[in-house]
Amino acid sequence: MVTRSLLEIPPAPPLVKGNGGDSAITAVTELLAALELKPADIPDLDPDPSPFCLLVPREFVALMQPGNPHDPLLRQILPLRSEERRVAGYVTDPVNDTAALHAPGLLHKYNGRALLLTTAACALHCRYCFRRHLQPATLGMSTRHHALAIAQIAQDSSLTEVILSGGEPLLLDDAQLEILLAQLAAIPHLRRVRIHTRLPTLLPTRITPQLCAMLSNSRLTPALVLHVNHAQELGSAAAAALQKLRHAGIAVFNQSVLLRGVNDDCAVLAQLSERLFECGAVPYYLHQLDPVAGAAHFQVSDVTARQLLERLRAQLPGYLVPRLVREIPGAAAKYPL
Ligand SMILES: *Cc1c(COP(=O)(O)O)cnc(C)c1O
Ligand code: SF4
Repeated sequence: MVTRSLLEIPPAPPLVKGNGGDSAITAVTELLAALELKPADIPDLDPDPSPFCLLVPREFVALMQPGNPHDPLLRQILPLRSEERRVAGYVTDPVNDTAALHAPGLLHKYNGRALLLTTAACALHCRYCFRRHLQPATLGMSTRHHALAIAQIAQDSSLTEVILSGGEPLLLDDAQLEILLAQLAAIPHLRRVRIHTRLPTLLPTRITPQLCAMLSNSRLTPALVLHVNHAQELGSAAAAALQKLRHAGIAVFNQSVLLRGVNDDCAVLAQLSERLFECGAVPYYLHQLDPVAGAAHFQVSDVTARQLLERLRAQLPGYLVPRLVREIPGAAAKYPL
């Protein structure tokens, strides 16, 4: 039964402590201690990053290798001083999200699909995030934004799919999601709902039977797109969460970002694809890094990226090779490299 109004959805919590539940680490010293590392092990470490603070759930830290400053999971969330370096071409809004706003929190770039920023909160802070500089207010997030976005979607009959993104859409609770899904399902021209999420690997317990049932019972065909960059992120708890989604009949895909020092290696990418499929997810996109200020140290050249993909194609069945793409502002789709 859906009785609460969308207007009651609370504003996005600020990008700070607690978004990962009570289990998130936000202090660099605590992270190092948990991993048996000393500051001297990471010369470039930023001990007090702000305003894009350290945020990582303990469940994710538990998947890292203690004593390894080069751990591929650690590298994704480790704040470094080199983030403050200014690099030509690296900007605060690299994919021009602000120009694609059709209603508060509603991005419409591609034919038939609109992307709804459900919340600004994330369960962890990826240092390479292309939205790391976009404040909720810039994107029009407020208590009323869902209602205005829904009205815009209802009015645009060219749309067949809505993507719930963020931030992290599964940080909304079931009651909030149910309202949102019901509102979308009531729009006759919509056929699919898609969720872009990192939670199945970060907080696998969020994937409850209730959540799976809510998605599979919707009139809209559900799809879920994960964000996993390395096979090490897919531990047994994540595998179990993904199995629940699969058993509920929900199509599960994965998008990764190509990151120097994390997954810029053919064997690592091959293992990721194999492990994803074992867990019930199909590799979808491998994104070239969006040039966001603070992330230049993650960049992999296009030449290297293409070589990696060519070698991957020579090793794996075609359905385990992700599409290498880059987002080009103004293009009609993610651009294949
Ligand atoms: C990436 C993206 C999509 C989804 O693109 P697909 O190619 O369908 O996965 C939709 N809307 C926006 C604004 C996006 O950035
Ligand atoms: S990449 Fe996704 S999960 Fe990571 S901080 Fe950005 S929005 Fe959040």
